[in-house]
Amino acid sequence: DHTCLGPAGSGMVVVTAHAIGRAAIIAVGSELLTPLRSDTNSLQITRALNGHGIDIVFKGISGDDRVELAHLLRYALARVELIVLCGGLGPTDDDVTREVVADVLGRPMREHSAIAEEICQRFAARGLGMPAINRRQAMVPVGAEILPNANGTAPGLWIETDPNFVLLLPGPPRELEPILQRVVEEKLAGLAAGQLLHRRTIRLTGRSESHAEEALQPLYAEWAGAAVPVTATILAAPGQIELHLAARGGSRQAVVAALDRAVEQAVAALGRDVFSANGEPLEAVLGQLLTRRQMTISVAESCTGGLFTSRLTDVAGSSRYVDRAVVCYSNDAKVDLLGVPAPLIAKCGAVSEEVALAMATGVRARSGTDVGVGITGIAGPTGGTPQKPVGTVAMAVVTPDASSVRTLTFMGDRTLIKLQASQAALDLTRRVLAVQ
Ligand code: AMP
Ligand code: MG
Repeated sequence: DHTCLGPAGSGMVVVTAHAIGRAAIIAVGSELLTPLRSDTNSLQITRALNGHGIDIVFKGISGDDRVELAHLLRYALARVELIVLCGGLGPTDDDVTREVVADVLGRPMREHSAIAEEICQRFAARGLGMPAINRRQAMVPVGAEILPNANGTAPGLWIETDPNFVLLLPGPPRELEPILQRVVEEKLAGLAAGQLLHRRTIRLTGRSESHAEEALQPLYAEWAGAAVPVTATILAAPGQIELHLAARGGSRQAVVAALDRAVEQAVAALGRDVFSANGEPLEAVLGQLLTRRQMTISVAESCTGGLFTSRLTDVAGSSRYVDRAVVCYSNDAKVDLLGVPAPLIAKCGAVSEEVALAMATGVRARSGTDVGVGITGIAGPTGGTPQKPVGTVAMAVVTPDASSVRTLTFMGDRTLIKLQASQAALDLTRRVLAVQ
């Protein structure tokens, strides 16, 4: 029965009484079950659905396996209103999503001539004939609405059953995204339960996850009981902690106001440890400070090997304030390039606040910048002593009106120590510039 098939917009217009509040995502592809590829599509799908107040209550990943996928799909159909499947829509034998969906929903597959025609034309446009296997991509479950794919051969499919909605999207992200966008605007916006979900991310550094939690605990109860409840999740990452706030409600204005207030309260509770109330990375925040103060910066890096400056220059427009960086790994380099006195290194050790300060002073004087930063430490795994264990990092920041030095000890392997050292030095610079 081809009458219910047709391109998006021209086919079925189904008025459904039920709304979508809960959804699940199933990513299909055997490569997603290896250590080589990760499922990123579900993050885009989650973002898009959350924007309309639809919650993702679970996600699943299935290999290209009819039996496993069918089980997962049956489970999802019993649990949530909307199931979004992505991947497995290709022309080859291992792409089984269409067939499994048709099978589980009890709908026969029919060839859809408009899709076959479209695929034919895509090949013809490149001067090629259509391989016979691509006919498979024109086979769709009866009753499915076709969601045209401008960037590939496999269209997306939208299927309404009672009581489920099933959305099939192609795996390649550049094919999936435009289709997802359209489906969200044309269908899900109207079917969503009318709730809006907004999120904010606050980032902080300089205190542990539990200390942050302690400071925030009194707010949690208040947020939970508010007219527009705000939920909070704390996530610890190397060198920083993120506080994710989410609020849901019927009016955009009320949701935004509830989040604004929660952000304000959280920032007040956490004080200067908060470096961003809108999710920006530390290097971007420091860049804004330098720009606002019309200051330039130069850096002398030992154990971080340039990572501090690499991060600083990840920010567009950083040429306004970054002047130069010196990677001075050996003692000789610190002496030759920065004028650190050799006797100072002999007396205090290369990893010391004295040497960090001399590095910052040296690079600042040679470059004529407003701010100089010096970082020296032991990234390990060897080179530690009882007084200065692996992970000890000394850092210094010098400005026209102040200088600040700090020694911290980090845990982890070399990469992690370098990352945390760069983070701590960016943060020390931020704090020095913010108070002046
Ligand atoms: P498929 O639709 O299964 O033929 O997917 C083709 C390609 O899309 C795969 O080789 C992946 O590169 C990509 N892909 C599939 N699923 C995902 C996913 N969940 N996240 C990110 N990329 C994916
Ligand atoms: Mg695949």
